[in-house]
Amino acid sequence: MRQNLVVGNWKMHGSQESVKALLEGIAPAGQCGSVDVVICPPYLYIPQALAYSGDIAVGAQDCSAQEQGAYTGEVSAKMLRDQSCTHVILGHSERRQYHNESDRLVAAKLTAAVAAGLVPILCVGETRAQRESGEAQEVVAKQLLGALEPQADLSTLVVAYEPVWAIGTGLTASSEQAQAMHGFIRQCLSALPDVDAESVRVLYGGSVKPGNAAELFAEPDIDGALVGGAALDAGQFTAIVHAAANS
Ligand code: PEP
Repeated sequence: MRQNLVVGNWKMHGSQESVKALLEGIAPAGQCGSVDVVICPPYLYIPQALAYSGDIAVGAQDCSAQEQGAYTGEVSAKMLRDQSCTHVILGHSERRQYHNESDRLVAAKLTAAVAAGLVPILCVGETRAQRESGEAQEVVAKQLLGALEPQADLSTLVVAYEPVWAIGTGLTASSEQAQAMHGFIRQCLSALPDVDAESVRVLYGGSVKPGNAAELFAEPDIDGALVGGAALDAGQFTAIVHAAANS
């Protein structure tokens, strides 16, 4: 039985003041029970989040593929673990788009993350053009399998299906479209010898709001959400967590 997981991706938003207010607003959601809750603030606000997040776990939005050394601007998985982070988002479409992250780089980051003891949240998803030309499954399978190195311990793997056309656009995949892709992702995972596909949580991401969360979570292969915009609003984020707890 997979427990639902809701992850808030704060992206590059916040100030000490707004982070404090948001943490105060969402902290009770950590006590919801029967759902795991994680927030991923910008690196700078991770210590503040850890101090005030209560039962909500704290993760990062990215990590380096390198363990340490002369890599200006990078933050290693080991450093995140040292700060008591538990999760890390990898391969987000914004990193693939604005930082040219390849599947190979995402794979190296994922291997570094699990070696450091972090739970990797691997993002995959097709663009609108790729969906319209019928390539969605092919793209998702390539991103998924391209990020999973045989030597990595994948026992904690979380996958987030985030159709690029639904991120921050207000467009959401219908629950049928999302379920179809989540089922396909699980099928791809079941072909891997070292992965227990039935225990991997597959999250949906892309304009998840209180109004569409329950319908998405009712699908058998949707095990929670990766939430962007609505994660910056304590009321909306809490409502999504409650929907996940009650599904
Ligand atoms: C995201 O960036 O991971 C995301 C899902 O954003 P939004 O919820 O705003 O679409």
